[in-house]
Amino acid sequence: MNFELTDEQKLVQETAREFALNDIAPTLAEEEKNHEFRLDRVARMGELGFFSCGVPEEYGGTGFGFMESVLMAEQVAKVSASWRLPFNMQNLGPALTVAKFGTDEQKQRFIPAWVDGTQVGFFGMTEPDSGSDVASMKTVARDRGDHWEVTGSKIWVSNATQGDAGLLYVMTDPEQKHRGMSAFILQPKTVNDFVATDIETKLGLHCAPTGEMAFHGTKLPKDALLGQAGDGFKICMWQLNNTRIGCAAGALGVAGAALEAAVDYANERTQFGKPISKHQMVQAQIAEMAVEHHAAQLLVYRAAWLKDTGKPNQYETSMAKLQASEAAVHAANECMKIFGSYGYSTEYPAERLYRDAKSLQVVEGTSNIQKLIIAGIASGHVANR
Ligand SMILES: Cc1cc2nc3c(=O)[nH]c(=O)nc-3n(C[C@H](O)[C@H](O)[C@H](O)COP(=O)(O)OP(=O)(O)OC[C@H]3O[C@@H](n4cnc5c(N)ncnc54)[C@H](O)[C@@H]3O)c2cc1C
Repeated sequence: MNFELTDEQKLVQETAREFALNDIAPTLAEEEKNHEFRLDRVARMGELGFFSCGVPEEYGGTGFGFMESVLMAEQVAKVSASWRLPFNMQNLGPALTVAKFGTDEQKQRFIPAWVDGTQVGFFGMTEPDSGSDVASMKTVARDRGDHWEVTGSKIWVSNATQGDAGLLYVMTDPEQKHRGMSAFILQPKTVNDFVATDIETKLGLHCAPTGEMAFHGTKLPKDALLGQAGDGFKICMWQLNNTRIGCAAGALGVAGAALEAAVDYANERTQFGKPISKHQMVQAQIAEMAVEHHAAQLLVYRAAWLKDTGKPNQYETSMAKLQASEAAVHAANECMKIFGSYGYSTEYPAERLYRDAKSLQVVEGTSNIQKLIIAGIASGHVANR
């Protein structure tokens, strides 16, 4: 067993760290205040190869795998959890899924622009009445002979109002439940009777837009179907097992940032005649944060390695996502406590880390859903895939 990153992986990690520090950090406070999402930054990330994980070379791949993607997303999230989302919205969601299930024409048409960041991606499955229970979705696409006609709505879709092309999961045969779900490639800016609106009430991730999509008889061309009609649930679960690790990598970044901020502050802040980092209870807080963060890191890197080596990994991916997101929330919470009243101030990073971390317990399957997956495989009810 070798725990060393390769020289190339160290370089990739360092490139992402420098990008986050030089291109995101200086303007982040202002952008957070204005809830600003920057298309030029998505394109810059594409240019740096951030969205090329697992993509065949002919569509813009650079030879990077999940490990490289995780290392980059972690470094970016350490500065801004919002800016970790494009890893999923461009690469681990749309690009990988179309690379796996798309026709040659779909691959050529869509993947390169997701990878180079010139077309903003997304994936929409969640609906007002359907979250964890994906197969209960109600949005339907009816076959009208020469086109599909979509009616219904999606909610909580990242990049809903910004997307150029992305994945849409809907029912094509609702009576068949999960066997009646299908996946489509949606180009929101080219379709009729479609409205996207931003959700303005989010607690955090202020530089990562999230929104609603409403379809009122929206026509999709026949060639927008991804895979076969009825493949949607299988495609969706496959996609989530990839996007889940992007979320876990983001959680590593948030927990790492919280740990560093807490340590720096605890060494500086003096109470009762010594730095608070010399008080045993603060030391216990820091020790817990460090252990949980490093345990999560090992789980996430191992899951990435399993993916890169083509081994079953659903079990390990869900463990990584569960541990990393819970560790991030705990670390951010402890960080706020260590900062005392300053932790409660928007002048300091702790509160943003906490607000951003909370999203990680929900997206790509809640912590309870990860436990269901883990327990199902651990108990032998379901095979690890
Ligand atoms: C910032 C953000 C970005 C997002 N981006 C996207 C996106 O890009 N695309 C997209 O499609 N969705 C997105 N989502 C939606 C997210 O994936 C869903 O919110 C999530 O799957 C949970 O669904 P829900 O909110 O409907 O909760 P529900 O499914 O209603 O769950 C509510 C609670 O019940 C629990 N629960 C539900 N079922 C069970 C069960 N069987 N056993 C035990 N507990 C259970 C859950 O764990 C949770 O605590 C995003 C959400 C956020 C907050």
